[in-house]
Amino acid sequence: MSDYSITPRNQVRSSAGRARYDRATVHAIIDAVRISHVAFLAEGKPVSIPITHAREGERILLHGSPNSRLYQHLRGGGEVSISFAVEDGIVFARSAFHHAQNYRSAVIFGHGRWIEDAEEKSSALRAFFDRVLPGRWEEVRPVSPTELKVTAVAEVRIESASAKVRSAGAGESGEDEDKPEWHGVVELRRRAIAPPGDELPPSVRRLVDGINSAA
Ligand SMILES: Cc1cc2nc3c(=O)[nH]c(=O)nc-3n(C[C@H](O)[C@H](O)[C@H](O)COP(=O)(O)OP(=O)(O)OC[C@H]3O[C@@H](n4cnc5c(N)ncnc54)[C@H](O)[C@@H]3O)c2cc1C
Repeated sequence: MSDYSITPRNQVRSSAGRARYDRATVHAIIDAVRISHVAFLAEGKPVSIPITHAREGERILLHGSPNSRLYQHLRGGGEVSISFAVEDGIVFARSAFHHAQNYRSAVIFGHGRWIEDAEEKSSALRAFFDRVLPGRWEEVRPVSPTELKVTAVAEVRIESASAKVRSAGAGESGEDEDKPEWHGVVELRRRAIAPPGDELPPSVRRLVDGINSAA
């Protein structure tokens, strides 16, 4: 897989050593989170909206309310920037200045497109669902024509992207090295807790076990 081209738009400037432009890193960060933030201009003013996304190859699939400003923007082929971030740890330093977070983050740029053809829409919705909740589609009743009608499904092709990864201790200056204050990295992990006593359907069991085995 080739890297995303580095341009003035996607080039990380500060702490540039943490920048990554390879597709594998960008894709892995997008796939590691369920929530992203879509930024766009609405009536000339910036707005950033949290949303659930799914990636299929080089496209980000989104679904939502057709009348929302975001979907109206995407319908007209509007441009967006979507950001994704995982907080992996809190970095405690001897000085307030050097406290930090360990993280993996990605930013992508692209134009929206509504998927309106009934067959394509249904298959994109299924692809979205399969990525967010693998195996669940087969366990529930099919989407009705009315549900399909009131749901906008859109894609954003990744035209440009960048990632940034921090995984280190505090970057302290030499003069602080002998100071007594506690310092270290507190790692953060996410856990899934299912309702107690319930026998879980296979897709839910896999989801819970997958999250907890990564913790
Ligand atoms: C959890 C978390 C906490 C952070 N906390 C802070 C903070 O408190 N203060 C602070 O100044 N910065 C913080 N950052 C870093 C911040 O995201 C930017 O990287 C930083 O502001 C410097 O951007 P820049 O000037 O290099 O790039 P800009 O000129 O702002 O951006 C140029 C391009 O670089 C790319 N880019 C910039 N940042 C990122 C990123 N994080 N991930 C992927 N691509 C990126 C984008 O493509 C962007 O268009 C944090 C990041 C994360 C993930």
